[in-house]
Amino acid sequence: MRLSHLFTKTLRSAPADEQALNAQLLIRAGYIYKEMAGVYAYLPLGIRVLENIKRIVREEMNAIGGQELIMTNLQRQDLWEKTDRWDESKVDVWFKTKLQNNTELGLAWSHEEPITDMMRNYISSYRDLPANVYQFQTKLRNELRSKSGIMRGREFVMKDMYSYSLDNEQHEAFYETATQAYLKVFDRVGLGDKTFVTYSSGGAFTKFSHEFQTVTDAGEDVIYLDEEKKMAINEEVYNDEVIKHLGLDKAKLKEVKAAEVGNIFSFGSIKSEQLDLAYTDKDGHKKPVILGSYGIGITRLMGVIAEIFADHKGLVWPEAIAPFSVNLIRIGDSDKTVKAADRLYNLLTEAGIAVLYDDRNLRVGESFADADLIGIPNRVVISDKTIAQNNLEWKKRTENEARSISEQELLKILER
Ligand code: ATP
Ligand code: MG
Repeated sequence: MRLSHLFTKTLRSAPADEQALNAQLLIRAGYIYKEMAGVYAYLPLGIRVLENIKRIVREEMNAIGGQELIMTNLQRQDLWEKTDRWDESKVDVWFKTKLQNNTELGLAWSHEEPITDMMRNYISSYRDLPANVYQFQTKLRNELRSKSGIMRGREFVMKDMYSYSLDNEQHEAFYETATQAYLKVFDRVGLGDKTFVTYSSGGAFTKFSHEFQTVTDAGEDVIYLDEEKKMAINEEVYNDEVIKHLGLDKAKLKEVKAAEVGNIFSFGSIKSEQLDLAYTDKDGHKKPVILGSYGIGITRLMGVIAEIFADHKGLVWPEAIAPFSVNLIRIGDSDKTVKAADRLYNLLTEAGIAVLYDDRNLRVGESFADADLIGIPNRVVISDKTIAQNNLEWKKRTENEARSISEQELLKILER
C-alpha cells in the first residue's frame, strides 16, 4: 500500500478526552477513529491488525475442531427470559431496542442463549455430539465506564466459542484442549511470557472459571501470580482456602495488575436444561447437553498489545500481527530514486511481503517520525545515497541503529 493513497493521516495529538495510551497511539497513527467514549471505528491499518489476530485465533480454533459461524446481533427476549438474564437487574450491560410493533429486542452483549437455542435444531442424538462452534462477533455492552480505550469498548469484537458435549468427561477433555489452544494464541500474538491462566469466580457450574490475564499496568484487574507455576488467582476469589486448594504458596504470590484477554467457563447442564437442549443416548435415554463457553477479546487484545509494546516514539507491533512487515521510505524524488524505490516495492510485494510504501516525499524527519508512530517491524530507506552505494538502509523498529545492507540480504531477513 502506498502511503500517498492512504486516506488516513497521522496526528500530532489524540482527542483531549482520550486517557488511554493504547487509544491515543492508535488514533494518532491512524488505526482507529473515536466515535464516542468506548466506541471506535477501525481504519485500514487497524483492520489489518485485527485480521491478523483473527487469523491466528481462527487457525487455533479450527485446529481443535471449531466450526465458524456468525450469529445475529438482534436477539429475542423470550430466550433470555428462559434463563432469567433479560432483566437489567440480572445483566446490567444490556442495550435494548424495539420493533415498530413494540416487540422488544436485545442487542447482543453475549450469545450463549440464542446459540444454544439454535443448536436445538441440530442436536438430538448422541451421534450429533460433540459440536464446537465459534464466531467473531461485535458485542454491544452498556459498560458503566469506558476509559481504557479499545481495551474496554461499549462496542467491541469478541471471538466466542461454545462447546456442546455428551457428558462431563467429554466436556472436560475439550475444556483442557481449548485451554492449550488459548495459550498458543497468546503465544503467537507475542504475549506468551506475560499471559497466565487465572482462577476466577465461577462458572455457573464449577468452582472456578479460568481467565487468561496479561500482566500490564494498563489492566483493570488485580491478580496474584506465581510466575514459576505460571498460575494466578484473581483478587475476586483470592483467599487462604483458594491458595491452598490450588496448591500454591502465599509467599510466592505477587500482586500485579492485569488485563483479561480471555475467559473460559463451564455451564454444566444448567443452560441446556433451561433452554431444553437435550439428546438421546445409545440406550434411548434423554440427557442434557453439557455446555462450555470460551471468549477472547479480539479488540481488547489489540489494545493490550499496543499498550505493552509501545515506546516513547509510538507503536511497536510484534511481527505476527503487524499491519505490514516493511515500511519502505523513499527519500528524494529524482527519477533514479523513484525508479529504485518503486522497483523494490514491487519486488517485495511480489515476494508476498506486506509493504507500506512511504512515497510522499516528505522531509526525512517527518517520514521517520511517522514510521516510529505507526510501528511496523522493519524500516527500509531508499535514497540517492543508498543508490550510490548500491545498498539500502534497514532498521528494526525495536533497534536504534540502521544498517546498510544489500537487497539480497534484506530478502533473506524478511523471508525468515
Ligand atoms: P470484564 O470483566 O473485563 O468486563 P467479562 O468477564 O465481562 O470481562 P466476558 O463476558 O467473559 O468478559 O467476555 C470474554 C472476553 O471479551 C473477555 O475476556 C475480554 O477479553 C473481552 N471483553 C469483555 N468485555 C469487553 C469490553 N467491554 N471491551 C472489550 N473487550 C471486552
Ligand atoms: Mg464485563
